[in-house]
Amino acid sequence: MSDSDTDSPENASLRTPIVAVLGHVDHGKTSLLDQIRGSAVIEGEAGAITQHIGATAVPLDVISAIAGDLVDPDDFDLPGLLFIDTPGHHSFTTLRSRGGNLADIAILVVDVNDGFQPQTIEALDILQRSQTPFIVAANKIDTVPGWNPTDDAPIKPTYENQSDRVRGDLDERLYEIIGELSDEGFSADLYWRVQHFQRNIGVVPVSAMTGEGVPDLLTVMMGLSQRYMREEMEIDVAGPGVGTVLEVKEEKGFGATVDIVLYDGTIRTDDTIVVGGTTEPIVTDVRALLQPRPLAEIRTESRFERVEQVDAAAGIKVAAPDLADAMAGAPVRVVRDRDRDDVIEEVEAELAEIAVETEEQ
Ligand code: GDP
Repeated sequence: MSDSDTDSPENASLRTPIVAVLGHVDHGKTSLLDQIRGSAVIEGEAGAITQHIGATAVPLDVISAIAGDLVDPDDFDLPGLLFIDTPGHHSFTTLRSRGGNLADIAILVVDVNDGFQPQTIEALDILQRSQTPFIVAANKIDTVPGWNPTDDAPIKPTYENQSDRVRGDLDERLYEIIGELSDEGFSADLYWRVQHFQRNIGVVPVSAMTGEGVPDLLTVMMGLSQRYMREEMEIDVAGPGVGTVLEVKEEKGFGATVDIVLYDGTIRTDDTIVVGGTTEPIVTDVRALLQPRPLAEIRTESRFERVEQVDAAAGIKVAAPDLADAMAGAPVRVVRDRDRDDVIEEVEAELAEIAVETEEQ
């Protein structure tokens, strides 16, 4: 690709929004991510699903295949959604980006049987403080007594398919959640009644077990991103990469590696990078960029496959010398043609910011 291509109005310069999943323990965060991943694998053409480290990329054409009539791909120019695989607010609060949280948007999962619980309220506080746009997934609708499931269906037809009693029972639970959101100061409604997703929180009834409502959830997330996040998704795709460390991990044959989410620019195998460390920034040269190998090939070879370059937004494992003291939640910056000391200073400033925030918590 030539440089001029990245200046074109096509989506070459638009990155994937990064999505986090929050909610009280056992309300279904992990199951919901599994369900989304599962649907994406089924709907994806061979090769359409990119394997990532620490994150799952669901491209627009796959979302469109899952969502059917709900999504017209022509309405979107964002490339899809990137879900961070580790749910929960600990990961949400430690994963910072330059401008605030690493996640651009969030899903707050609430069990329709259990309603608001302490961690639901904590998550709401965090979302409000970080001004992260979010929607509520009212999960486990399949547990309403007498529920008649249609796997993977959008919510409207499956709702119509229930008896009056079951519909009434679900309505009651959904309005309870809307009421609880209101008690916490959020104006909310069922998502199809919401006009302005910035002013009102959309509630999407789902089942992480049957996949019902998952088409709606992906549609609303995509719509919310396209409508309100698009400008922030405009990046210099070819520029030096910027990301956040998810985890520091020892890997056989590579020593200490960092799993990162890259949210701006590119990272290449010949790059020098600056990584936030426990005591000071680490300056090192990339030795390998590693992605998970497709499951079918794992038996015979290493779990990872080397790639030459990765573009934001993406999850990737970086192998490089001296990474043992790298820190989860810390920034990673590619130096490339910039002044190395400037980049070190930026990383130092970001580390200082993280230290202050950690003390405040
Ligand atoms: P997390 O702690 O929020 O990640 O919750 P999990 O995803 O681990 O789910 C907790 C339990 O609830 C597990 O036993 C799941 O199988 C179950 N569960 C999650 N979502 C659903 C759902 O939509 N329907 C039903 N029936 N069970 C669910």
